[in-house]
Amino acid sequence: MAEERRIGLLGWILIGFVVGAVFGLLFKDLSLSLSWIGDLFLRLLKMLIVPLVFFSLLTGVASISDPLKLGRVGVKIIGIYLATTAVAVIIGLIVAVILNPAAGMKLTPAAGFKAPTIPALKDVMLNLVTTNPFDSLAKGDVLPIIVFALFFGIAAVLVGDKGKALIGVADSAAETMYKLTALVMWFAPFGVFSLIAATIAKQGPQVLLPFVNLILACYLAYILHVAIVYSSIVRVMGHVSPLRFFRAISEASIMAFVTRSSNATLPVTMRVAEEKVGLPRSLTSFTLPLGATVNMDGTAIYQGVAALFIAGIFNVSLGFGQYLMIILLATLGSIGTAGVPGAGLIMLAMVLQGVGLPLEGLGLIAGIDVVLDMGRTCLNVTGDVVCTAAVAYSEGEFSPATAFPSPDAPQPRPA
Ligand code: ASP
Repeated sequence: MAEERRIGLLGWILIGFVVGAVFGLLFKDLSLSLSWIGDLFLRLLKMLIVPLVFFSLLTGVASISDPLKLGRVGVKIIGIYLATTAVAVIIGLIVAVILNPAAGMKLTPAAGFKAPTIPALKDVMLNLVTTNPFDSLAKGDVLPIIVFALFFGIAAVLVGDKGKALIGVADSAAETMYKLTALVMWFAPFGVFSLIAATIAKQGPQVLLPFVNLILACYLAYILHVAIVYSSIVRVMGHVSPLRFFRAISEASIMAFVTRSSNATLPVTMRVAEEKVGLPRSLTSFTLPLGATVNMDGTAIYQGVAALFIAGIFNVSLGFGQYLMIILLATLGSIGTAGVPGAGLIMLAMVLQGVGLPLEGLGLIAGIDVVLDMGRTCLNVTGDVVCTAAVAYSEGEFSPATAFPSPDAPQPRPA
């Protein structure tokens, strides 16, 4: 019975997606005037992020009583996030070199485009530590919230008995937020319908056609990354079927595609990772919010392909050193990219500047960024869950026996 309900939701989301796509093609004005439904859904998702991340991270940290394990998990997840991102850029570069999406193109940058400014590394580091946790919570700054929740959770464990009540409240609040996420998801089919209809109504074929080669190159690289890298990790480091895995997280993938925001998708990602894949909350509560902010394989691929595309358009030939520079900068740039729509375009400025490519190139591709962003966000979110599964497996907390729990089985809970 419950199984039927869950399949039903995914089915309705897919129906919302397909009907929305057709609707957006046929009824442009109506789709645009109905876009408030998608905005409402986005607001509902965003409403969940801060309390969900804060409370579940607090309980997650408290459930890992061994500080060594916390450190080990931290090192492992950051290592695998970085490694997969670097491989992603390389795949993007290989595809772009082979397909050469700029071949035969002559384009002029869109008028009035202003190159964005890039935040300094020292500011990024300083901003990890908030001077006022309540201010960060109010603003929804995920990274400082993660850092504060980690400190707070560790301190709550260290105070012993007196901290237990706090951890109990956080556990109950986290549980409630997961339930609220499940409830919000029942509105998802309408939200998905509206978001995709409005996107398609805005991005007609006339906008996309001149860039069809660039779009194909990016999407081919996205698909290759899933087929080669993610499937191998799931198979070799998780010992489960990649297809089943990707199907289990498909609600999050669709949500990422239509919202173009890893952050807005985070509540859904956390829910499917735990309930459908069977990953422990003690890990997901930490690795997924971190991943939504720093692990962006799709963005890295896009930055690699886009950099070569812009080099091609402006007839700049790149040497081996510059390719290495692109790999380094796109990996770092994707870490610095916020999990919000269009952020990857801004960080592309850093890559272009680093290899001496003209920043006006950004103006060229800004017009189709939405379409590239849908795929890259989908990949960004998928990568977070895949890497988490690998770390969970290495910690003995994920195996074919615990994977894909049935909805009627008791859910994994923090110890
Ligand atoms: N929209 C992407 C995300 O939220 C970031 C990007 O623009 O590349 O993951």
